[in-house]
Amino acid sequence: MTPGPQLLLVEDEESIGSLVSAYLEQNGYRIAWSRSGEEALLDLERVRPRLVILDVGLPGQDGFDICRGIRARSQVPIVMLTARDEEADRVAGLEVGADDYVTKPFSPRELAARVKAVLRRSDPVPRAARLELGDVVLDAEAREVSVAGDPVELTGKEFDLLAYLLDNVGIVVSRDLLLDRVWGLSYAGGTRTVDVHVAQLRRKLGRPDAIRTFRGAGYKAVRP
Ligand code: CA
Repeated sequence: MTPGPQLLLVEDEESIGSLVSAYLEQNGYRIAWSRSGEEALLDLERVRPRLVILDVGLPGQDGFDICRGIRARSQVPIVMLTARDEEADRVAGLEVGADDYVTKPFSPRELAARVKAVLRRSDPVPRAARLELGDVVLDAEAREVSVAGDPVELTGKEFDLLAYLLDNVGIVVSRDLLLDRVWGLSYAGGTRTVDVHVAQLRRKLGRPDAIRTFRGAGYKAVRP
């Protein structure tokens, strides 16, 4: 059996850490466990994880600081564990570069589902060279898109956005994540940018139902 993805868990609470690592190990992941943020920054180099699960409440530097520290060195996906379901914490986490978050108390199963989804979304590009959705065909290497065999002219960002959505067919992707993945962390514009580009894509493709809006959640590419 091939070893599962290596994860780095950063959590100071023994009970939560043991529960989470046992559950994830049962599900085929390999777990390295850091008890503090400072330790996590060292383990990041040593372990080279595919994803980091990062608690916000840590002794010393908190999870937000550590998230910034990780982002300064690596684009590894980060799922944050936040103590409260507060908008401020969620936004702060995404602003410092987290990919997703889970609110405590959570079930290990819920966390595992989130980890799996983030890993899937973060598969290194280029993924498949050719992505298809009905008669929409995207060639990632040639950077060409056609609909029913006819070429469609897209801007660079429209192309990247479509590629990301097609690579995650059937999954609702949040505007924040699209902004991060397509425009990058340094982009200062708001999520309205994503809405404008999705509208453009629908118009240019002439397939308005291919990308569905999920109010308050994001967008999803759906098979016809
Ligand atoms: Ca903690």
